[in-house]
Amino acid sequence: MDAKIRLYVEHPLGVGQSVPLDRAQAHYLFGVMRQVVGRQVLLFNGIDGEWQAEVVEAGKRGGVLRCDTQRNVLQMPPDLWLMFAPIKKARTDFIVEKAAEMGARRIVPVMTAYTNSGRVQRDRLQAHAVEAAEQCGATFVPEVADAVKLDRLLHDWDKDRQIMFCDEALAGASSPDTLKDKRGAPWAILIGPEGGFSGDERARLQEFEQAHAVALGPRILRADTAAVAAMTVWQQVLGDWE
Ligand code: SAH
Repeated sequence: MDAKIRLYVEHPLGVGQSVPLDRAQAHYLFGVMRQVVGRQVLLFNGIDGEWQAEVVEAGKRGGVLRCDTQRNVLQMPPDLWLMFAPIKKARTDFIVEKAAEMGARRIVPVMTAYTNSGRVQRDRLQAHAVEAAEQCGATFVPEVADAVKLDRLLHDWDKDRQIMFCDEALAGASSPDTLKDKRGAPWAILIGPEGGFSGDERARLQEFEQAHAVALGPRILRADTAAVAAMTVWQQVLGDWE
């Protein structure tokens, strides 16, 4: 039988490897998806690629799978971070889900001057990234970082990493062609909050050596739309869409 269900596990995967399931995974696989002993599922752990595995024990509170054959090797997305100012809960969830699907390697919530959302629940966002990876066929799961202030982020910046600074003040302008010059470098996309960037932040970023200010077309996009649009442009010009 063809394995359709994909499950992320935090366990080494290899030929003959037994993989224990926790209560939530057992509930999903046996309760919700109605899998039974003998059924095949696909497993990945973000490190060892994708494996076909067979259910060997199925219980209410746990279970065991046995790895059979490797179906895919690990495919790393390009070295792209998505940095965004958290917005309302459902829209933030959307951004994290789309970042995982679009092939971001790391997702960084950034607190800016006009960020008005409260605390970021990192674990919940990480679970959204896992779920997105499970359903889109990815073998890698981007890590959701702890929220960080923009000042601190820029202060500690790795000088090799370029920033695609999405600046709403440039809406309608044409974006520089120079992004292509940094092909192969590590990159990060920066998206502001609903209130946009403050004058001080914009000034700081304009002076920042690694930052390349770009426009995302002539209209002002909502932050969640802007995040997807920016990742699309980046993957097309510098990433793995070619
Ligand atoms: N309130 C602001 C808009 C913020 S939009 C205003 O009216 O000016 C939220 C974020 O999406 C922005 O900070 C920017 O990072 C990104 N964004 C939206 N539209 C954009 C565009 N046309 N060009 C570049 N970035 C854009």
